[in-house]
Order: sequence, then structure tokens, then C-alpha cells
Amino acid sequence: MQPFELLRETMPPFHHEEFVRPDIATMEPYVPIVPFEVLSARLGRRPEDIVKLDANENPYGPSPKVLSALADAKYLHIYPDPQSSALRRALADYTGVPQERLLAGAGADELIDLVLRAVLRPGDGVLNCPPSFGMYPFSTAVNMGELIQVWRRADFALDVDGICSAVFANPRARILFICSPNNPDGGVISDEALRQLLEMRVLVILDEAYVEFGGESRITWTPQYENLVVLRTFSKWAGLAGLRVGYGAFPLWLMPHLWKIKQPYNVSVAASLAAIAALHDAAWSRRHIGAIVAERERLQKALAKFEFLEPLPSRANFVLCRIIGADAARLKSDLEQQGILVRYFDKPGLQNAIRISAGRPQDTDRLLSVLKAWKGS
Ligand SMILES: *Cc1c(COP(=O)(O)O)cnc(C)c1O
Repeated sequence: MQPFELLRETMPPFHHEEFVRPDIATMEPYVPIVPFEVLSARLGRRPEDIVKLDANENPYGPSPKVLSALADAKYLHIYPDPQSSALRRALADYTGVPQERLLAGAGADELIDLVLRAVLRPGDGVLNCPPSFGMYPFSTAVNMGELIQVWRRADFALDVDGICSAVFANPRARILFICSPNNPDGGVISDEALRQLLEMRVLVILDEAYVEFGGESRITWTPQYENLVVLRTFSKWAGLAGLRVGYGAFPLWLMPHLWKIKQPYNVSVAASLAAIAALHDAAWSRRHIGAIVAERERLQKALAKFEFLEPLPSRANFVLCRIIGADAARLKSDLEQQGILVRYFDKPGLQNAIRISAGRPQDTDRLLSVLKAWKGS
């Protein structure tokens, strides 16, 4: 062994430029969401005076049973159960899928990343059907996958034949993301189309973040297919977006590998308690999901009456609107000045459009009164 003094002479200097992975160094930065309190301060309004219809959150917040479970939490100083056993037992009852196929995560977002980490080698193909959820391309890039885009049709229907051709043309395609109801349009995939896609030699990740608001869940299909993952979340229907808790149903062959690579304490004690309490308050969920669906229908009909809006049919808790003969960016910023937040899109396949979450009746009322007064063109 050489003394350090000698080694030091020959040691090359530290160059930080060589440390970050080149694909990460050149990656476009993620445009961060402005925190709600910051935005409300900027708009000169109190947070409770803002009508927040931009992120598909539940405007009613969580069930009172969730709040009391959190208030009564006794073990916040103890690390959580790495297996989330109590939550997975409750989820097995709720979904009808056996516990050994279920894994909980810090939101469905974590599980998207986790599956890709387990499966992808650098350069493996991930099929995405845009316009859809932005986390699929994001996690694909972080995990060194190659994104294969199969665009939806103008009415947002999946191009099933196009997906099949893309799988055949790309021997390294491994993963196919399907979101149903799809974010941002709210359309659902048919049983027939899903069955056809499941015949291919790729792992299909069906994202059902919005399924409580409409459409049939296919989570009970998971024991029948070796290549189906179904992801769900508490963020939307249960009003727990801020606590970060989601789950998935996976094929048995994948489970041991996911257990190995997941962070041991990925689901916090608070998130687990809240999720279990939400599952136990079925009456509350039924009532509030019902109210949100009713409001989506009302919003949809009311928006269709404006000649500059073209709302699409939706089975989720939001309505996507094309803007006709007016500027969607201006509409978004004019609404914002009035304290109403909506999601604005101007990306390929989604030009001049806004997505409006279904809120409470008073939220729709405020939105409609501003729209009625709006001079867009
Ligand atoms: C909101 C959303 C999710 C994820 O939610 P988490 O908060 O990470 O559980 C997943 N998929 C889609 C399509 C979503 O819109």
C-alpha cells in the first residue's frame, strides 16, 4: 500500500462535470408546480377563496374518519411497517385481489417508477399513448428507457393497431402504459381493446387513478394475466393527495423483485392510517364520489353551452375543453386573476385546451359566472 502522500501526486482532479449521468445532465428540467400558498399570496387571495380546479384533487378533503384517525395516531415516532400489512389487508377486502399481489406506495407515482426500475435495461422501449399522464415519459427518462409514442386519435381513442405494430417493430419494447379513464380527456379503454393489448409480449400497466369516478376497474383481471399491472391511488377519490398513498396489483412473478428494490419505509404511518380509515368509510366515499360525478355532468352540460368551449365526454373527475376561436392561455390567466385555477395545455395533440376538475357546486357556479362575463375574442 502506498502512503496517501504518494497517491495524491498521481490522483486526477475532481471534475464535477463527469459525475452526473449524461442523459440526466441534458434532461429538460421539470417545470415545478407553484405551491398553493405561494400562488394564493401572488393572487392576493386567501387559499380558501381560491377555486382550485387544476389538479383533479378532491375539493371535499378527506373523510372525518380519516381526520380522527390522524388525530389519534399513537406511533408517529416509530418507523412504519415496510410491508404495509394492515393497509394491504384492507385493500384486499376493497379490491377482491389477494394481498400477496398488492403493493402500496407513496402515491401511484412511486409505483410507476418502481416497476420501471425493476424491468428496464438502458434503451428498453416504453410505449406511451399521448396525450396522457406526464409521469410515464418522466419516469421512463429517469430509468433510461426509450419512449415509443403511439398517438391517440383526434377523439382521444387509443390507436390499438398502431400500438400492436409498434410492439412488433420494437423488439426491445417491454412496457405499455394505458391510463383509463385517461388523464387528460377522461375516456376509457374497452374490455375488447384491453384484451387485445394483453395478448402482446409486453407488460401492460393500466393506470386506474380515476376509476372510482367511472368505468369498470380491471384490477380483478390481474390474477388471470401474467403481464398486467393495475395501479390505483387515494389521491383523487379519497382526498389524500397531500399524504401520498397509492397501490398496485401485480403479477406474482414480479412481486419478489419489487419487494427487494422498494424503499423499506415508502408508505408513512400517517398515510397508512388515513388510507385504511378512508377504506372503512364507504358511506362517505359513496356520497362524495357521487357528488363529484354529478358535478362533472353538470359542468359538462354547462360548458357545452358556450360557443368558445368544446367539452369532451369524461368518466373521470375532470372535463377537458377545447377552446374554439379564442386563446386558451388567456382564458386560463383571466380565470386565475379571478381566483379560479384550471389546467392549461399547449402541447402536441393538445393544443389550445384547458382541463377543469369537477369541484363543489359553488365552485362550478363561480367558474360559470366568470365564463359568462369573459370576452375572449
Ligand atoms: C394523479 C394521477 C396519478 C397519481 O397519483 P399519486 O398521487 O401519485 O397516487 C397517477 N396516474 C394518473 C393518471 C393521475 O392523474
